[in-house]
Amino acid sequence: EETEPVEEVRPQSPVKPMTATEVKVNVSIPEAAERAAATGADGVGLLRMEHMILSLNQTPAKFIQENGEDAYIQELVQGIRGVADEFYPRPVRVRTLDAPTDEFRQLEGGDDEPTEHNPMLGYRGIRRSLDRPEVFAHELEAFRRLFEMGYDNVEIMFPLVNDAEDIYRAKTLMKEAGIDPDKRKWGAMIETPASALSVEGMAEAGIDFASFGTNDLTQYTLAVDRNNEHVADRFDELHPSILTLIGNVIETCREHDVETSICGQAGSKPEMVQFLVDEGVSSISANIDAVRDVQHEVKRTEQKLLLDSVR
Ligand code: PEP
Ligand code: MG
Repeated sequence: EETEPVEEVRPQSPVKPMTATEVKVNVSIPEAAERAAATGADGVGLLRMEHMILSLNQTPAKFIQENGEDAYIQELVQGIRGVADEFYPRPVRVRTLDAPTDEFRQLEGGDDEPTEHNPMLGYRGIRRSLDRPEVFAHELEAFRRLFEMGYDNVEIMFPLVNDAEDIYRAKTLMKEAGIDPDKRKWGAMIETPASALSVEGMAEAGIDFASFGTNDLTQYTLAVDRNNEHVADRFDELHPSILTLIGNVIETCREHDVETSICGQAGSKPEMVQFLVDEGVSSISANIDAVRDVQHEVKRTEQKLLLDSVR
């Protein structure tokens, strides 16, 4: 005789739990902003600029050549604005462009991209931005316009930073673009072992926050290509070496009043959430579909910590 399969249902309150650790959401395409805001997230922990640019189907240089600098800047302003509106006054952390050359190459105008043996170890993120300040200036001008329009919930985040020197150079370019680093909230991603080991200097250089990009931090710490199926079983975001780096960064940042956050995929994993809350991370940013589960995992972990402390 057949029995009906029992569907497992995890009891979960429909109400957003109150937590000391903020839970934010990652937004990769501006079109998802409304759905992301509906999760009740405390803000956007990562808004990637890539999609705004890759969806133009032209490299920035090609787009500018055909449409002019102002049109390019306006594309960025509109893309960010849609998300900043949806979340206002909740903060939206916007990451400056971080597309590797092999992704740019697929676009019209991509033939001009440099050929690289290892694009993931090459010309991307803040390295490219610092090397091409005249191009980077357009992104910074988009931020300046947004601030002028009153979007004080927009924050700037720099990808693939290695050390304080990168931060000082980025800060200089912000000032040159008419953005006062002391009046705005800005910070860096922790994606390389070098950045994790340099966070004290980065704090002294003035960052307001450090955000763990565990997709890259895992790739670079373990020397495991995040897109290589042959070593996929070695891609372990919870590897003790990664947790040691993360724990040390959180401690250093706390001493310097710098916020910490995670915006890599691992932020959606319960074990990582428990570890981070235990270490005292300021916020966790998860994918839209994972936000509610992370909110509850954070709540459970905070309650356990509280009970442990009074027992
Ligand atoms: C990361 O590296 O964890 C990250 C969030 O950035 P991306 O996945 O865009 O490289
Ligand atoms: Mg990354």
